[in-house]
Amino acid sequence: MFRAFWVLIFFSVLIFVSLFSGCEKRKLIETTAGMDSAEELWIRVLLFDNIRECIVASTSGFNVIDRANDSASKFTSSDTVKIRLKNGRIQVGEKLFSGSLTINPKDPYVVQVNGKLYRGNLKVIANKNSFDVINAVPVDAYLNGVVGAEMPNYWEPDALMAQAIAARTYALYYKKRFGAKRNWDVSTTQATQVYKGVAAESATVKDAVKKTEGKVLKTKLSNGTKDIFPTYYSSTCGGHTENSTNVYGGDFYKPLSGVKCPHCKMVAKTSFYYWPMVEFNLETVSKKLIERYPSLKKLEKIVDITPSKVSDYGRINSCKLTGSNGKTDFLRGEDLRLTLDSGSKKIKSTLCSIMVTNNKLRFYAGKGFGHGVGMCQCGAQRLARKGKSFKQILQYYYPGASIEKIY
Ligand SMILES: [Zn+2]
Repeated sequence: MFRAFWVLIFFSVLIFVSLFSGCEKRKLIETTAGMDSAEELWIRVLLFDNIRECIVASTSGFNVIDRANDSASKFTSSDTVKIRLKNGRIQVGEKLFSGSLTINPKDPYVVQVNGKLYRGNLKVIANKNSFDVINAVPVDAYLNGVVGAEMPNYWEPDALMAQAIAARTYALYYKKRFGAKRNWDVSTTQATQVYKGVAAESATVKDAVKKTEGKVLKTKLSNGTKDIFPTYYSSTCGGHTENSTNVYGGDFYKPLSGVKCPHCKMVAKTSFYYWPMVEFNLETVSKKLIERYPSLKKLEKIVDITPSKVSDYGRINSCKLTGSNGKTDFLRGEDLRLTLDSGSKKIKSTLCSIMVTNNKLRFYAGKGFGHGVGMCQCGAQRLARKGKSFKQILQYYYPGASIEKIY
């Protein structure tokens, strides 16, 4: 009798599990949450700028709304359409629209662009000879595509939660600060935050975003009010985070003051914590810098580069460039690094020494990965492993900031 009872329980659980996993298989992509949120909680991500064509599809079908006259055209789930520019107007498949349209996929509100899936909708806006594609997405759905792209999804839940709050604040800050002046708020790259859409989603990431829903970081401004601020973060600070004004200039925010970080060393790969020497041909350096910053043409050819300001924590904040005609100019350390190596593959930070020797520019004794301002992501993981909560992690890396729930 007792045994029969357990056999019954066993089979009941088995049936339940198989039913449940069947549902999961049938509905691989759940409905995008937050589609009814207020406009201020949508993030507009510039997916492509100045392109001449792209391919769009949606397994649920989509409507194309022409923003010039609000008319809607239906496309079915089997339509994979090419979008291109024709005489300043946008052509979707065989149909011609004005220079501005919205592509609204149906439930579950997922659309594919050039093979990648994104939640929310798309805005296609024509420029003179090309067009931009912008993905408008509710902020938490956006964060599901950011947190997993910015941090490994198997990291500690509290590290992922700290990342979710920093990324939410950062996106909403960018929207507020720059969004009104342009058609988009953030890009998809490290220039703002890395966003990979549905491909970066996972259960652990969604959990971190859900558990921190509506939470942002605020700081007291000089006028006494409290507001969100640009919550920078970077991979590995190399021992001390940096004052934001040393790297980016701009407004001073107290929570963006450098803090000591003995933590990332325990998590980061050794070759990222101490990166090997990199050298560049000085002629190539000169060419790249003048191409990127045309005002440097006045130096004719750059023949010497020396640090002109090094922070208390060892980062090269700016450097002095000397031209073949004897004229000089200055450049931010981050600008030098990213012009020569935009993907940060070799010159991983400005926490290093530089020297010109035998017509080569050498970066050596380098430590850390990224700009070093705000939260150190590897440090956050180390603190979470030690049992610190997301609140403690954020208070450590953004000293004096408060966590507030705004929606
Ligand atoms: Zn660190």
